[in-house]
This record gives sequence, structure tokens and C-alpha cells, in this order.
Amino acid sequence: MSRDPDCLFCKIVAGELSADVLYEDEHVMAFKDIHPVAPFHVLVIPKLHLATLNDFDSTHRELAGRLMIAAQQLAAEQALPGYRVVMNVNAEGGQVVFHAHLHVLGGRQMKGLG
Ligand code: AMP
Ligand code: ZN
Repeated sequence: MSRDPDCLFCKIVAGELSADVLYEDEHVMAFKDIHPVAPFHVLVIPKLHLATLNDFDSTHRELAGRLMIAAQQLAAEQALPGYRVVMNVNAEGGQVVFHAHLHVLGGRQMKGLG
């Protein structure tokens, strides 16, 4: 399924829900998190609906790389001296929205993983 009609982030991709979009190309979109936990907190998502990292397979290798490169470029644009990239996987991993996404966090000192 390329799109889940009930998925929040698919609705953002389709333009049905608004978001503060910082980057978009054919495959990837990045927008500000609505509940930021750092001065810079952006979500990088595939446009394709993949619920979790566990839904990526060998056909998604390039897409996985695109997500990482988009995260790196967003951090560079903000001239962040350092930043953190996080992907929560499944409820036990802290995932709430089941459309895979990277959190890019910066603008403050990051401390240990909790
Ligand atoms: P996770 O816990 O990894 O699934 O993170 C989901 C993130 O999505 C949370 O940090 C939320 O604040 C964020 N979020 C939820 N709804 C929206 C939205 N409509 N626009 C932007 N960010 C959102
Ligand atoms: Zn989705």
C-alpha cells in the first residue's frame, strides 16, 4: 500500500493536513514536529507509506539512504554543530505515529539516551 487513508503523515504528504514543510522531493518530505522537544525538531518521512522500519526491505535501500541524507542536509542548512537522529520502532520503541519517520533534533546539548 503506497498510502494509508487513515494515516496522519500520508495526509500531510497529500496536502490534506497542513505542516511546516522544510524539504520535499519526489520521495521524501521533512516538516517541523508539532510538539518539539528541541529548538530544532524536524521529522523526515518517506512519501511512501511504510508503517515502521520493519516494513523496509531490500527494495527500500535507496529510500532509507535518502532519509538519512535529507536529515544531514537539514542539519547543515541550520548550521547545527551537532544533532541527533532518532527512529522509534513500534510502540515498545516509543513510536506513536505508524508512518516511519526520522526525528532530527538539534539546537541544544543532547545528553544520554533515555
Ligand atoms: P513517534 O513517537 O516517533 O511516533 O513520533 C511522532 C511525532 O509526530 C511526535 O513527536 C509528534 O509530536 C509528531 N506529530 C504528530 N502529529 C503531527 C503533525 N500533525 N505534524 C507534525 N508533527 C506531528
Ligand atoms: Zn502513512
